[in-house]
Amino acid sequence: MIHASFAGRLVMLGFGSIGQGVLPLILRHIDVPKDRITIVTAEARGHAVAAEYGIRFMVQAATPENYRDLLTPLLRKGDFLLNLSVDVSSVALMQLCRELDVLYLDTVVEPWLGGYTDPSLSPSARSNYAMRESALALRDAARGGPTSVTAHGANPGLVSHFVKQALLDIARDTGAPVASPPPASDRAAWARLAQRLGIKVIHIAERDTQVADRPKRPGEFVNTWSVDGFVGEGCQPAELGWGTHEKALPPDGRRHESGCDAAIYLLRPGASTRVRTWTPLEGPFHGFLITHNESISIADYYTVRNADGTVTYRPTAHYAYHPCDDAVLSVHELAGKNWHMQPEKRLMTDEIIRGMDELGVLLMGHEKGAYWYGSRLTIEQARGLVPHNNATSLQVTVAVLAGVIWAMENPRRGLVESDEIDHARILEICRPYLGEVVGVYSDWTPLQDRAALFPEDLDESDPWQFKNIRVV
Ligand code: NAD
Repeated sequence: MIHASFAGRLVMLGFGSIGQGVLPLILRHIDVPKDRITIVTAEARGHAVAAEYGIRFMVQAATPENYRDLLTPLLRKGDFLLNLSVDVSSVALMQLCRELDVLYLDTVVEPWLGGYTDPSLSPSARSNYAMRESALALRDAARGGPTSVTAHGANPGLVSHFVKQALLDIARDTGAPVASPPPASDRAAWARLAQRLGIKVIHIAERDTQVADRPKRPGEFVNTWSVDGFVGEGCQPAELGWGTHEKALPPDGRRHESGCDAAIYLLRPGASTRVRTWTPLEGPFHGFLITHNESISIADYYTVRNADGTVTYRPTAHYAYHPCDDAVLSVHELAGKNWHMQPEKRLMTDEIIRGMDELGVLLMGHEKGAYWYGSRLTIEQARGLVPHNNATSLQVTVAVLAGVIWAMENPRRGLVESDEIDHARILEICRPYLGEVVGVYSDWTPLQDRAALFPEDLDESDPWQFKNIRVV
C-alpha cells in the first residue's frame, strides 16, 4: 500500500543496519522516484544493497567542517533529510534543514564523534538530557517551519505510541474508558489520564532472544543493531525520568542544573546499571538501564503541574534492556576492559538462526498492577516481511518509515518529539510489521519472589520505588 507520494528529493545520511533495512520499506510504501534518492555514508558497507535497488550511493563522512558543503548541494526547499548515521550532530543537521526549508527525521539525538565519551565534559553534559535540551532549544525558532522529527525509531519513537495505547487499554479495562483520545498536542490531557490511572512507573521493557549460528568470540562485540550506537549510549550515564512518587534520590543520583528537570542521572554508565523488569514471554529478568531519549521525553510529556508551575505528578520512566545473549557477554567483556571497545565488532544479520525481539512498555502501579503492551517479532517473521532486516531492526525501520510518512503528511510542524505525534496514525502504519502486538496484565512486582537469603534495603510499603527495581 502506498501511504504517501513525495515530489522532493530524499537524502539518506548513514546506511548501516537501519538505513539498509528501511530502504525497501520506503520504496514499498512511499511513491518517490528512485533517481530522487541519494545515500551519503561514511563507508562502503551497504553498497551492494543500494545497487540492488538502483539507488545512488556516495561514500563521504560528514564532519563539523564539511557537512554544510556536503549536504547543501543535495537538498532544495521541500526535500527530505533522513539521518540514520552515527557520530553526526543531529542539532547541526536540524539547523541546516531549517535554513534550507527541508524536512528531517532522526532516531536519536546524536552528538558529533566522541561527544558521548568526552572526558572533558561533565556527566550531565554527556547525558541524553543535555542532548535533548539542545534539540528542544531549536523549537521556538523552528515553529511553523519544515517538520523536524526528533528521535523517532523504535525506542525512542514507537514506544511513545505504545504508551498511549496502553493508557487507553488500562482506562477501558478499569471501567474508565476514554470516549475519544485527546489529540497528541493536548499533552496536559494525556498527563492527567496517566495520573488518574495511577501510573507510577513506565519501563521500556525489551528482551531480545536472537541467537546466531556462531557464538561471540573473545575480543568481539556482537549485537543485533549498531555496535557503535549501543556502546556509545551504554557508556553514557544511566538516566531515568524521575517520578513524583519516588521517596528518595539514589545515593549516586544527581539532578541537572537547568532544563525541564524531568529526569535524573546516575554517576555510572547505563551498561553497568541493572534493573528488575518483566515481559510476558520472558517473565521477570534483569535489564540494563541504558539512557535513552524516551526516558526523559515520556516523563516530561506526562508531567502534571499546578497553575503556579509546581509539579504534582510525573511517572518514573526508563529503559530496561536485555539485549541478545551475545551482546550481554559483549558488555561484560567491555566493562572488564574499562569500557575500551573490543578490537572486533559484528552486527548479527544472516547468521541469526532463531529468536525474537519482545519490545514493549510496562506500565506499573495502577489498579490492575502491571500492563505490558508491545510487539513480539520473530527473526523468521522479520525476514519474511522485509529484506535486509532482523527482528530488532524491523521494529525500528517500520517506525522510521511511519515517522517519515507522518512528516510528509504534516510538513509545517517545526520540531516535534514522538510523544507529540498522532499515535493512532503511526501504529496503523507499523502494525503489519510488528508480528504479534499484545497487551498483557501481570501481578509481577519487583518485590515478587525476593528470597531472603541476604539482607536487602527494600521498601515493602510501595513496590514501585526505584530502590526496589534497581539491582544492587
Ligand atoms: P550502524 O552502525 O549499522 O550504521 C551507521 C551508519 O552511519 C553507517 O552506514 C556509517 O557509515 C554511517 N556513518 C558513520 N559516521 C558517519 C558520518 N560521519 N557521516 C555519514 N555517515 C556516517 O548503525 P544503525 O544500527 O544503522 O543505527 C543508525 C542510528 O540509528 C544510530 O544513531 C543508532 O543509535 C540509531 N538507532 C536508533 C534506534 C531507535 O529505536 N531509536 C534503534 C537502532 C538504532
